[in-house]
Amino acid sequence: MIEKAREYLQHYFGYESFRSGQEAIIERVLAGKNTAGIMPTGGGKSICYQIPALLFPGITLVISPLISLMKDQVDALVHNGIEATYLNSSISASEASMRMNDIKQGKYKLVYIAPERLDHSAFQQEWQHMNLSLVAIDEAHCISQWGHDFRPSYLKIKTLLKELPSKPIVLALTATATPEVTADICQSLGIDNETTISTGFARDNLFFSVVKEENRDQFLTRYIEKNKQESGIIYAATRKDVDLLYQRLQKAGIQVGRYHAGMNEGERSFMQDQFIQDDLSVMVATSAFGMGIDKSNVRYVIHYQTPKNMESYYQEAGRAGRDGLDSECILLYSPQDMQVQRFLIEQSHPDPERKEEELKKLNKMKDYSFTEGCLQAFILRYFGDANPEDCGHCENCTDQRHSMDVTTEAQMVLSCMIRMGERFGKTLISQVLTGSRNKKIEEFGFGRLSTYGIMRQQTAKEVADFIDFLTAKQYIEMTGGQYPVLKVTHSGKEVLMGQKQVYRKERKQVAALTMDNVLFEQLRHVRKELASAENVAPFIIFSDVTLKDMAAKLP
Ligand code: ADP
Ligand code: MG
Ligand code: ZN
Repeated sequence: MIEKAREYLQHYFGYESFRSGQEAIIERVLAGKNTAGIMPTGGGKSICYQIPALLFPGITLVISPLISLMKDQVDALVHNGIEATYLNSSISASEASMRMNDIKQGKYKLVYIAPERLDHSAFQQEWQHMNLSLVAIDEAHCISQWGHDFRPSYLKIKTLLKELPSKPIVLALTATATPEVTADICQSLGIDNETTISTGFARDNLFFSVVKEENRDQFLTRYIEKNKQESGIIYAATRKDVDLLYQRLQKAGIQVGRYHAGMNEGERSFMQDQFIQDDLSVMVATSAFGMGIDKSNVRYVIHYQTPKNMESYYQEAGRAGRDGLDSECILLYSPQDMQVQRFLIEQSHPDPERKEEELKKLNKMKDYSFTEGCLQAFILRYFGDANPEDCGHCENCTDQRHSMDVTTEAQMVLSCMIRMGERFGKTLISQVLTGSRNKKIEEFGFGRLSTYGIMRQQTAKEVADFIDFLTAKQYIEMTGGQYPVLKVTHSGKEVLMGQKQVYRKERKQVAALTMDNVLFEQLRHVRKELASAENVAPFIIFSDVTLKDMAAKLP
């Protein structure tokens, strides 16, 4: 059968050979096995059900949330000589019942439907009398409540499958699924989890970077002006941001469009079409844009703000470079945006457990922003690849800066946290470390501690960034919701004990950290003393702390 599949690939689609993953998925499906296929965006998932559809005797039903793509996909199939049709909200009721009749007559090999159709039991009933060979579920992660695009209608697929007498083969396809979501998909659809076929998520042609510049507007305008000829998407968090950026870029003479849920349908599809036809080079949009867009030559995706989790980020960033050519994915990071996202999560989920989960996912975005390792590898690890290779071309992989030993600075931060009882957030800790005096510090009784200002040669913001870095390295953990409290982790304690060294790439703009000589002397002295005193950590950089005090706090 697979020879036949290869023949069809050339005959109907004009491709010489299968891409990674396609053949394995098709082979399984043809062998009659329920299958889950995980392939990156642009990897060629459609072929995985289109070719079996041609080889099976019955109908292939394709469930997809991407209504705006259906017509184009069906047109393309028909153009290639394949009988296909679709049913969704864009066609009239009479047209739909006409098509339904044709489907019953066996006129089509492939039928695309929107999942919302399944909400009607009458519609579900109709399929029981048809000869279905294969049910393909595109964007299958929508079935999982743990996924980022959960669609209640997807749950109805289960009832459909249960009641179908023809027992079709099930093929679930997605580009974004953590191991939990994959397990959820397989469990819901009766697929053997063990034999899921995954080509991984790596996209070799994407160049990831994180920009932490103060003036992101300046960065943005400069970037777009430099890449005027290219097609790009800018994602912003709110409609207001979209409108503001849209106006600003328009004034700068950029061919720009905008897209968000606050605009009317006509305006939205006008902008979208213009963008797809390359009449507009840049699209500024909220996350509402892109699900149904099949534009292959997007050369860059910039996130003006941090999205709420890694799933959203990778899916949106992944809209760059679907044609396989080199493309950039840039995240503009700012701590304030993290606050906004945190606030939104607090507001949107009444369930505390869910809230906790979402906040954890948000914190991963921050870790992504501060990691010094390969960015692509970070993403792949997030999606469950235990041992991903470095991409070799992201911002961090190409970073030539030197690694500096910042163990002492890390010890300063960590010891200060312990000294403050591990009950506070980043802001207060960095203020105390840099010697700020304010009411809050006095109120909590840290006035004295703050006078030492052991990191006063840096700004509070620099120290806060350093704390983020230590958090990303997992020496510090964040707990709690809207006002997270920082705690020293086990490996943070090892740093304090001098059992672990901390290295950090030297900062781009900020001068290298320099230590206050006096403090350094003090620290060295204390260390020597402690080395003989049962190897206790060098806590006593604050001279009013007794060795006993600190020893009591050690694990
Ligand atoms: P996905 O759904 O995984 O994002 P698509 O199915 O839309 O990807 O395919 C992405 C692009 O790759 C399409 O233009 C498709 O025609 C092309 N493609 C798919 N399979 C092959 C192949 N074996 N050889 C060459 N091009 C392919
Ligand atoms: Mg697809
Ligand atoms: Zn890399």
